[in-house]
Amino acid sequence: MKLSFHGADRNVTGSCHMIEADGARILVDCGLYQGGRELAEENADDFGFDPASIDILLLTHAHLDHCGRIPLLVDRGFRGEIIATAATHELARVVMLDSAHLQEEEAERHARHAHRHGETPPEPLYTTLSALNAMGHFGRTASYGEPIELTANLSAIFYDAGHILGSASIRIEQKGAKPQSVIFSGDLGSNGHPILRDPKLPPAADVVIMETTYGDRLHKAPAPSVQELYDAVTDTMARGGNVIIPTFALERAQELLYFLREGIEDGHLPRGLPVFLDSPMAISATDIFRHHPECYDAEAKELFAKGKDPFALPSIHFTRQTDESRALNRLAGGAVILAGSGMCTGGRVRHHLKHNLWRKDSSVVFVGYAARGTLARILVDGVKQVKLFGEKIPVNAKLYTINGFSAHADRDELLAWHKALKPKRTILVHGDEEAMKSFAEQIKGSTQVTMPKKGDAFEL
Ligand SMILES: [Zn+2]
Ligand SMILES: [Zn+2]
Repeated sequence: MKLSFHGADRNVTGSCHMIEADGARILVDCGLYQGGRELAEENADDFGFDPASIDILLLTHAHLDHCGRIPLLVDRGFRGEIIATAATHELARVVMLDSAHLQEEEAERHARHAHRHGETPPEPLYTTLSALNAMGHFGRTASYGEPIELTANLSAIFYDAGHILGSASIRIEQKGAKPQSVIFSGDLGSNGHPILRDPKLPPAADVVIMETTYGDRLHKAPAPSVQELYDAVTDTMARGGNVIIPTFALERAQELLYFLREGIEDGHLPRGLPVFLDSPMAISATDIFRHHPECYDAEAKELFAKGKDPFALPSIHFTRQTDESRALNRLAGGAVILAGSGMCTGGRVRHHLKHNLWRKDSSVVFVGYAARGTLARILVDGVKQVKLFGEKIPVNAKLYTINGFSAHADRDELLAWHKALKPKRTILVHGDEEAMKSFAEQIKGSTQVTMPKKGDAFEL
């Protein structure tokens, strides 16, 4: 068996790892690098291997940093089979199409600039057609806990990773003369979140390749965060303003709808509270959630069994069309608006911020990770004025930062997961160097730890 590393190495995004065994080349994830210009350039770089030589791609989950370069892989010659769970298959379609659309838009913007300066216009990283072609390569569907034969001596089993709908850790086992087992953690979820089950522990393995996003941090418990959310909404309604929640389209948006519905049913929030999900991608993702009760935890299953929809609030509005979204700018107050992007780097939320940040009676509630340099982070850090669409907007709205909604396992959860698998060798990926090193310190007595750089390869 040989392992090589082609993304998310001492870095959080761009997940892409390869395993060569039993005469086959198998890729685990093929994600996009996100954030910063240098990373954007890395997306167009050579993969570090010939895409045409890959037989199978195993996809852990549908986040862009895990599936976002699949269309490019197909453009560059991949003709193999993509294997994922049914929910990941559906979500990846939405994510890849949305990404292709953004790539096309960005290329168009650069083309206008290039045209003015007499330069050659750039090509998009990939197009909508590439994303559609990529969809044609999805083959067998993985069901949690059921082995899939990859080659005569190699099989894979997907285990629920509890991170987003359909997410999985993947265990690959080699039979025959040299038996060996390897587990790719994928992204691991945090315990105790609604809708999804807690991460499922795969059986022990010789080698573990694991994420370390929060390898050096602990999360707050979810329950107090939900109360903070209700308080923020109630307080803003009393002041007569709007609540703007910048949100990620997968998982976070559905989790918020779930909690808002519960709050209304329990009487923490007013029954007629108007909630707007103003994100076409989040709306599509919510529909996909409804199709996959096989991924639900006991509570969500019970809701469905009673004929209840976990995302159906009494006064929910799904605004897909741009003009419907624009109409929200005229709302005088009393509404909760969920819109993307989660870090306010683009998307409809910027319009809502423009129309609400200056208002003392409105609120902005941050519920997700805000990377350095993003508008979300600048606001969280307490800036007094921002520029949006060429206009200077004073920040008068009340800002809330609620930390307990993370879709990632924290340090202690990662440690417990690792300990249970008892690997001889542990390879750390998908984390900032700082988090990774701190995590390596915690486990170094029990296992051989490696933190690969991009392009590194190891014979097992
Ligand atoms: Zn993820
Ligand atoms: Zn990830």
